Order: sequence, then structure tokens, then C-alpha cells
Amino acid sequence: MFQRVGADQGKGVLLAWVCIFALSFAFRQPRKKHQWMRIPVFSFLLWMVAVPLESQRLQSPFEANNNYTGRYDEIMAYYRELAQKHSLVKLVEAGPSDVSSFPLNAVILSGRKQFTPEKVRKAGKAVLMINGGIHPGEADGIEAAMLFARDLVTDPRLVALLDRIAVVIIPVYNVGGSLLRNSTTRVNQNGPEVYGFRGNAQYLDLNRDFIKCDSRNALSFSELFRYWDPDVLLETHTTDGADFPYVLTLIASQRHKLQTELGNYFYKRLLPQLYRTVSEQRIEMIPYVHSAGDPATGIYDFMDFPRYSTGYAALFHCMGIMAESHMLKPFAARVSAQRLLMTKLSEALAGQASDVIAVRAEARQAAIQKKVHDIRWQIDTSFADSLLYTGYELGRKISSVTGFERYYFDHSKPYTKRIPYYNTCRPVSSVEVPECYVVPGAYGDVIERLRANGIRMRRLGRDSLIEAEFYRIGDLRSAAKPYEGHFPHRNFSLERVKTHRQYFKGDYLIPVRQDAIRYVVETLEPDAHDSFFRWNFFDAILERKEYFSDFLFEEIAGSILDNDPVLKADFQDRRTKDPAFASNPHAMLEFIYSRSKYAEPGYMLYPVARCFPPD
Ligand SMILES: [Zn+2]
Repeated sequence: MFQRVGADQGKGVLLAWVCIFALSFAFRQPRKKHQWMRIPVFSFLLWMVAVPLESQRLQSPFEANNNYTGRYDEIMAYYRELAQKHSLVKLVEAGPSDVSSFPLNAVILSGRKQFTPEKVRKAGKAVLMINGGIHPGEADGIEAAMLFARDLVTDPRLVALLDRIAVVIIPVYNVGGSLLRNSTTRVNQNGPEVYGFRGNAQYLDLNRDFIKCDSRNALSFSELFRYWDPDVLLETHTTDGADFPYVLTLIASQRHKLQTELGNYFYKRLLPQLYRTVSEQRIEMIPYVHSAGDPATGIYDFMDFPRYSTGYAALFHCMGIMAESHMLKPFAARVSAQRLLMTKLSEALAGQASDVIAVRAEARQAAIQKKVHDIRWQIDTSFADSLLYTGYELGRKISSVTGFERYYFDHSKPYTKRIPYYNTCRPVSSVEVPECYVVPGAYGDVIERLRANGIRMRRLGRDSLIEAEFYRIGDLRSAAKPYEGHFPHRNFSLERVKTHRQYFKGDYLIPVRQDAIRYVVETLEPDAHDSFFRWNFFDAILERKEYFSDFLFEEIAGSILDNDPVLKADFQDRRTKDPAFASNPHAMLEFIYSRSKYAEPGYMLYPVARCFPPD
């Protein structure tokens, strides 16, 4: 182990050793017999000392000032130098970001020169991906990853891990935000003195962008993520919210949204080992404290929709962890905690690499075979687990600013007790998955996202009138204010209709039973939490393109009713029961028009076909 580090790092020192040896031999004193033999021993000892010193010479900006986080150029210079010094490290570009002059970068750490997923997986290694700086103001994870990367290739106790795992670090995911440095936007945070901004170059929160991919960062991330297919995705954050003694809190991919065996493995083996080994180093860590004010009344699992990293990871049976350090702890303490978490996670993953790979493969197979997929969940607040929690009692006093009662966490009154932990989520919507979906090629934004996520697709060879199941959208209610650049659709009804729709040569047929089945289903089924439909990718179908003129349609409407007794009865019934309808001539004509052959078929018809095999 040590030899590998030495051979790698100490090329310069080795040369110096040879020079020292040669010079010492040249100027040896001939009278002292055999004394020259001490020279190689001395110089070898010098080499032994110098190699670690050489490796330590690379210092991060944070190490020079413990309340400082590096600028983007300083961070990248550090990684470039690390990659130059160590053959276990490779720095690669990973696609564009929203700042055209700065691409996304990835740092790959792996033993035996295995720097591609093919080589890594062939060697039976597990893969850990670390996403740093998605919120660049929450900088401790960025700094921790820099130190952790150096630890992995210089600390003799850790180097061997790279024979069993590969680590892929995105040093700063939100490149644009990291360039907007300031000292004020993290108002509740204890350091560092200057940091980046949460929004990216488009003012987007990238931790809401994993599905809609409005940023180039997210599209590049999808490609990188799918290329490496990590077993664990660790993303680093700093939390706002309650006050408590814990330095670190964790949001893990929600257990019940994972395949059963994978959820059991994650929550019964990997996470307990993490909590144990981190706390053994006297760093306090607990699940993310997401409460309705006072944590003593209970904490709730964070509902990690696929727009968030942990929810996105879960779509691919990857175990996601958001490490949220506590904003009131000193910056240096937060960096130490994140660095320790990375180390312990790597050790756990290296120790269980074959089990992790096996349980994920099992989950993948189980998902592919399932006929019915859950697509929406909610936290079950009628059932609580319990959690041993140390916190501070909530005190109350009158605010000198607002004059109203305010609460505060009273550090003079700490407590440790069991609190309710609402960590069960249950499906509230499920769907029988079809054999394939058909998506018109006209929806290029949808196709681009499917492609970035490595979804298998086939192009239609000719124009085809396809008879299939479709959804008719109704009762639509959307967000009144923009959310992350969209007006997402909150509530709507879906009526299943069997009909036909014209598709064209080159449109996309997407077989559902593929590795990424969850991604396919949870983006293309409109009712899923973060479907493309909810994120406004299909909004044009929600408006009519043709209309009728009342004065001309009158005659036609009359003959429609005369020839359709059922419709006529419905019409009369509505007129009798609904006075507002009965007093609105246009509404009455619209009632008839929308049920007639003249109504355009594509209005409110979700254009993605659900194709089932013939009975
Ligand atoms: Zn964050």
C-alpha cells in the first residue's frame, strides 16, 4: 500500500535521493572505512519521511484559513494539481454548465488505473458519487471533498479503499452560483466569510432541477450520473431551521419509495453503520430534523420527490444521501464532519461492495418485472416510529422587533428523550404500466431529457395511426405563482380513453421494461409527483386551437341534438339543474360542440400513447 503511494508521489523525491546518494558518494571521506554505507540508509530514511511531506504540500485554501472557502478557480487548481501528482486521480470535463466558459468537472479516484465504469464494474468495485456545491453558499462539503480526495490517495489507511470502490466527485455542481460570491445571502450561517450563491446562472435552484433539467448543469449531471450509475450518491448541504447539538443531519432516499430489499439494506445495514462509525469519532449525527416548529413534537421524513437528488437517485435504485450540516456550527467543524462522513461512507461501501452491487441488481430486476408501479406517495402521519433525540427546550418571549411572541431554543435547558419520528410513506397513486409509450418527436425537450438519462428508445419506421390508451386531462388547477421557472400543475383529473392518434415516422417508441423503468414511468405518467406533464412540457394541449362562431353554430347545434337523443337528454338535464348554465347561451353551445364530432380530438388529450399487448 505504502509503496504504491511512494512510487506514485515520490518521483521528484526519488530523483533527489539519487542525487544525494551520488553527491555523498563523491565527497565521501576515504579514511573512514565503510562509513559510506550509511549514506544509502540515511538517504532512504530521508525518502521515507519526504514522501508523506511531499504529498502534504498540496494545501487547500480552507487549510490556510479555516473560515474561508475557495473560489471556483482555486478549487479547480487544487484538483488539477492533485491529479498531476497522483495517478489514482483523474480530472475530466463532464459537459457544459450554464456558464459557457466553465464546464462541469468531475474528479475520478480509482485504483489500478480503472477510470471508466466498464473497468470499475469489471473489477467488482462499488461507485460513490459526491455532488458538491449544488448550493455553493453551503460550502463545507466542497472543502471537505477536497480534503477527502487528498486523504484517499495519501493516507495509507485509505488508499486500499480504491481497490474496492471508485469515487466520482463533482467539485462544484452549481458553477454559476459559485461565481456569485458574497458574504450576506446565508444570513443564518456561521461562516465562511465569503461564499457563492444558491441560484445558478439562470437563478434556478439546482436541487429542484433533476427532472425538468432547465439548466445545462442538470442535463450534464444526468449524463454523468447514468454513465457512472453510482451505488450511492452523496450530496452536501448546510441546513437552515431548528437549533440542536448535532453537527450533521442526513436525508436519505425515502425507504418505502425504494424496492423493498434495497430499502431494507439501506436502512438496516448501510445507514446504521454510518451513524455508528461517525458517532464513534464523536461527531453527532441524526436524521434530518424536519419538524413543525418544535422537534420535541416529532420530526417528519422529507418527501424527496425526484426533483431532488435523493429522489432522483432512487429512480435508478441508487441510494441517495443529502448530508445537511448544521448552520450554527463553526465552518471548520462542519468541514471536519463532512470529511469524516465521506471517509466512513467509503469504508462502509468498500466493505460491502459486492452486497451493494447484488442488492441493486435485484432491485432493478424486481422493478422491471412489476406490473403495477406506485407513482405518488405521502408521509403517513398516523404512524410514528421513535427516535432518541437531544435538543433544547423551546422558550418563548416577546419580540422586540414585531411585538409578538417569538420562540427560541433555550441552550440552558437541554434534554434527551424519545420523540415521534414519522418515517413511513405510503403510495397514494399507482398505475398499471403499459408495454411501451409512444412520444411524438415534436416534443424535443422531452426526448432530450430521456436521452440524457440513457433511456432506450426506437424511432417509428413509418407514419402510423396508433390505437392505444390515452389520458384526457380535466379539472386542471395550476400554481398561481411561478415555481422554479414553471407554473406546475397541482391538481387535475385523468380519464382513460381508448382512441387512436396519428404518429409520424421518427416519433419515439419507448419500451417500458428497461433498467430505468422507474424514470420512464415517473416522468411520462402525468399523475407522478414530478412528471413532465406537471412541469409544463405538454401545456399547448391545454388550449383549443379551433373554435366555433356562435351565430353559425346555432343551426348545426340544433341538428346535432335532433340526431343524438342521449346528448339531448344530457343537455336538458343540465339546463334544468344548473341555472348558471341555463342562462349562458355560449356555455350551452360549448356543451354541444365539445361533445360533437367537430370538437378537435387533441384538446386536453395527453399525447403520449400507452400501448398494451393485445388481449
Ligand atoms: Zn442546500
